[in-house]
Amino acid sequence: MNYPTKKQILSKEIIFKKETIDLLLKFKEKWSKKDRDKRELLTYLVNDLGVIYKKPALITLIENKPCQYNLATQTINIDKSLSIISTLHEFAHHLMGRSELIACRWSIWLFIKTFPNSYKKLEWKGHLLVKK
Ligand SMILES: [Zn+2]
Repeated sequence: MNYPTKKQILSKEIIFKKETIDLLLKFKEKWSKKDRDKRELLTYLVNDLGVIYKKPALITLIENKPCQYNLATQTINIDKSLSIISTLHEFAHHLMGRSELIACRWSIWLFIKTFPNSYKKLEWKGHLLVKK
């Protein structure tokens, strides 16, 4: 797989629909509460994004299978990492196809714009953002 670099990903800022930003901000509020089921929240997030972009995706929660998008079945699998960025990344594949650069840009810019403090706490490792 040919993954893009940090420079390529950040070189073009992505502008999002207001509904998308609002959805993520509402999601963030729920995510910060300790008693919420994170698997359920990610499922709702994918469902709501599917409504905004008029392209519903199916979701599976198979913990020991990688977080990935299956084009044939239009299904996003959410794995045990319960990563917001990975979930957004797979939704971007659902929306815009196979390009890793496009999927990385869409998911990372959306995360930067709605989780700026969390983003600052992450470190780039190749095309991935990991906890410092
Ligand atoms: Zn990808």
